[in-house]
Amino acid sequence: MTDTPSPFAALPCDPQTLKDMLGDTELSCPCCNGRLTSDKLARLLDDVQRLAARAGNGAGRAPVDGGGGYGGMIIDPHAHMISRSTDDYEAMARAGVVAVLEPAFWLGQPRTNVGSFIDYFAQISGFERFRAGQFGIRHYCTIGLNPKEANNQALAEEVLDALPRFLVKEGVVAMGELGYDEQSPAEDKALRAQIEFAKEFELPIMIHTPHRDKRAGTLRTMDVLEEHGFDPQRCVIDHNNEETVREVRDRGYWCAFSIYPNTKMGSERMAAIVESFGPERLIVNSACDWGVSDPLAVAKTARLMAQRGVAAAAIRQVVYDNALAVYGLNGEMREEHWLTPAAIDQRTLYEGNSVLRGGQTPRIEQPGRPADDLVIR
Ligand SMILES: [Zn+2]
Ligand SMILES: [Zn+2]
Repeated sequence: MTDTPSPFAALPCDPQTLKDMLGDTELSCPCCNGRLTSDKLARLLDDVQRLAARAGNGAGRAPVDGGGGYGGMIIDPHAHMISRSTDDYEAMARAGVVAVLEPAFWLGQPRTNVGSFIDYFAQISGFERFRAGQFGIRHYCTIGLNPKEANNQALAEEVLDALPRFLVKEGVVAMGELGYDEQSPAEDKALRAQIEFAKEFELPIMIHTPHRDKRAGTLRTMDVLEEHGFDPQRCVIDHNNEETVREVRDRGYWCAFSIYPNTKMGSERMAAIVESFGPERLIVNSACDWGVSDPLAVAKTARLMAQRGVAAAAIRQVVYDNALAVYGLNGEMREEHWLTPAAIDQRTLYEGNSVLRGGQTPRIEQPGRPADDLVIR
C-alpha cells in the first residue's frame, strides 16, 4: 500500500512566492475576517501540510478513517506477527492499531525439541517486539505450551520446565494459548499444570478453544479453570462464536472472537453479536498468522460496526478498552506506551540487526504527539 500524496504538497508556501502569487489581491480569514498577509498564509499552509503529512503516514499517529467509520485507537489482542510482513505492520498502524498481542502457539508443524520452543519464546518476547516498534506498534506476548503440542508428552515436560524464565520477562502479559485441541489426557495435564503456573506468577490466561467440538471443549475448559480456583475475570476465552458467547460471559470470563475472512466468524456476524449482547467483556481480534487471515480484521470490523450504527463508545470497548483491561492486569501493558511513544528510529539495531536492507532510508520520527491527536472520536 502506498500513501496518497498530500493535495497540498505541490503548493508553494514560502512568503515570497505567495506575495508574488497574490499580487495586490487582498485575502481575508474565513473565521475572523482579518487580513491574511502572505506571511500568515505561509504559516497556515505550512500547518495544513504538516497535518496532511501526519494523517498520511500512520504509525504512532491518530488513525485516519477512510470514511464513515471508527476513527479511534485499536488493540489487536491476538496476532501471530512473526509470520506477517512489514507491509502488514504499516497497514495496521495506518488503520489505528497501536498495540498487538502475540500469543505463543504452534508453528504449523510440530517442533522436535525443546530448543525450538525456547528460541520461539525468545523471538516473540525479543526480536518481534523490537520489529513491531520499528513501525510504531507496541508488541506484547503470552507464553505457554499450546494444546496441540502437549500431546508429545516427553517434550511437553521439558517445555513446562523451561516456561518460568519466560513468564517473568518484560512485555509478557499472560499465559497462552492454553486449552484443548483433541481434548486428550495429555492436553488436560498440560492445561492444569499451566493454570497453576499462572496463579503462581500472577498472570492472566488466554484460552484457545478447540475448532472441533467447540461448545463441549469450551465448557470443559471453564470447568477445569474453576476446579483450580482461577478467577474468570483474569481469563480470556478465545475463538468464541454464537454458540458459546452467552455461557462464557455469564460465567464471568472475557469473551474474545477471532475474525477470519470468508469463514465462520466474519465481521458481519461479529457486529450482530455486539448489537445483540452489548459490548461488555467482548473482545475482537484478527488471530492473523501464516494462514488465510487478515491483520486488518479488527479495523474492518470496527468500521462495519460504525456503519451499522453501533455507538462509538461500544466499538471502542470491544476493539480497545476490554483488551487493555484484562491484558493490562499484570502492569506490563500500559496505555502510556503508545500515548507517549518512543521515537521511531529505524537506525536502531537489535543484537546487531536492523529492519532495513542495503541502501534503504531509515524512518525517523520524534516522539511527542500533540494533544489533539490523542482524542478518540
Ligand atoms: Zn488459538
Ligand atoms: Zn492463535
